Amino acid sequence: MKKEIICTVCPRGCHINVEGEGEKILSMEGYGCKRGVTYATAEFTNPVRILTTLVKIDGVDGELLPVRSANPVPKEKLFDCMEIIRKTKVGVPLKMHDVIIKNICDTGVDIVATKAVK
Ligand code: SF4
Repeated sequence: MKKEIICTVCPRGCHINVEGEGEKILSMEGYGCKRGVTYATAEFTNPVRILTTLVKIDGVDGELLPVRSANPVPKEKLFDCMEIIRKTKVGVPLKMHDVIIKNICDTGVDIVATKAVK
């Protein structure tokens, strides 16, 4: 499998071409520094993303609670996580960093509030 990965570690945005089988990398070219190798390796073998979105507040119309994953979530689980978050309603008051959903989709990652609501 071949994959072109755009490195987002610095503004140069190198286009890194990775070729591999499964999680084994056979070749890599186009990176400008070692940080790009680390980034492209992670993106090729186990891409993850910080998930940021909004959650409904129970009993409050028109206001949504901004939330994010406390740590990066595997990219392949983002859709499933969003489905759970979409169905979630939270009660208030809430403090910033309160856990809204614990261990979402068995990722070991919590979804937390990024804003306090009274
Ligand atoms: S590979 Fe290095 S130089 Fe290129 S974008 Fe990534 S961090 Fe920047």
